[in-house]
Order: sequence, then structure tokens, then C-alpha cells
Amino acid sequence: MKLFGIDSTFETIFFVGFIAGSVVRKVYTAGPRGEKPAKRLKSTLDIVLISAAGAGLAVPLLYIFSPWLDFANYHLPAWTGWVGTVVFAAAILLLWRSHADLGRNWSATLKIRPEHSLVTNGVYRHIRHPMYAAHLLWAIAQGLLLSNWLAGWALLVTFVPLYLVRAPKEEQMMLEHFGEEYRGYMSRTGGLVPRF
Ligand code: SAH
Repeated sequence: MKLFGIDSTFETIFFVGFIAGSVVRKVYTAGPRGEKPAKRLKSTLDIVLISAAGAGLAVPLLYIFSPWLDFANYHLPAWTGWVGTVVFAAAILLLWRSHADLGRNWSATLKIRPEHSLVTNGVYRHIRHPMYAAHLLWAIAQGLLLSNWLAGWALLVTFVPLYLVRAPKEEQMMLEHFGEEYRGYMSRTGGLVPRF
């Protein structure tokens, strides 16, 4: 299969998924600008970690469309690519559903919006961090689809620190704002792995 002038089947699948995921992000994150949040946790560390993860997301494009990263290529058997395809599809589906369910409560950095509501339905019914789970699945799929040490694993090594730093801060912020409602929600749900 050769599409957009890309050589390998799994690179093509990755690129198609990358576009699909980018469309989901674009559609759901385009909101009114200039709104003053009710609460904002601004941290330089957060910005640095978000930027690193952004680079982790983008490195594959450099790998696919230039020869610059070819020195870090290695060989993967074809089955890893097919497993990666399934994992990537799951990641994009979960990214879409979590954006759809979270709606206007979404933000790139930690914020409580003026009209923030606690979402506990849809994919949020069983899991508190479906969007972070989607990014981790994406990161694993990226590694399984691209046979290159840098492009394949760049998102996993940048997203794991972001998650570890952010999730506890986010839960603390939600607890402070929503109190018992969030405490109850935490006791019913899993963080990254759904609890039924
Ligand atoms: N951790 C979630 C959301 C990521 S977006 C996930 O992985 O799906 C980050 C923003 O979402 C935070 O600033 C917080 O204000 C908001 N948020 C997180 N969980 C929420 C929930 N259950 N309901 C409403 N807003 C939530």
C-alpha cells in the first residue's frame, strides 16, 4: 500500500490515524477565546511537559517525511504493526468519545471554567482519565507501528512524566472545587483503567 508517497503500510496507517486524531482535537478544542477561568493552575513544569509531549506527537512526521531519523531504524515483525493498528484505532475512538463527553470542560492546562460541570457520564462513567488513557494507547500504538527508536517511542517517554505530574494535581484541583461530589466519583471509578 502506498499513499501520500509513504513507503510502508504501517507508516501509512499511522499517518491516516494521525490525521483522524488531529481532526478530533481540532473539532472539539476550538472554543471561544479570551474566557477568564474561575481557577487556573499555571505551572512552568506543566508547560514544559506539554510541549515535550507535543514534540513526542510530532516526531513521527519527521520520520515519515524525511530521511533524518533513519539512523534509529530497527526491524519489527509484521504482527506488531497489526496489533498497533488495533491499539491506534482504540486510542482514536477513546480520544473522540472523551472529547465528546467532556465538551466545553476540556482545557490543555489545568483549569476550572466559569461554568464548569463535573462529567460522570459516557466514558467518564467508569474511568476518570479516558483522554490520558487515549494518549497512552496512542503512544504504545506509535511504538508498534513505526520501527524507529525515536519516532516510535517519543510520545511514550514524554507523556508518562506528564501524566504522573498532572493527574494528582488535577484530582486535587477537582476535589477542591467539587468536594464530596468528586470524592464519591473517585471512589466509583478507576484512574486509567476502567472500574466496573
Ligand atoms: N483527565 C481527564 C480530562 C483531561 S482535560 C481525561 O483524561 O479525560 C483536563 C481538564 O479537564 C482539567 O483542567 C479539568 O478541569 C477537566 N476535567 C477533568 N476531569 C473532569 C470531569 N470528570 N468533569 C469535568 N471536567 C473534568
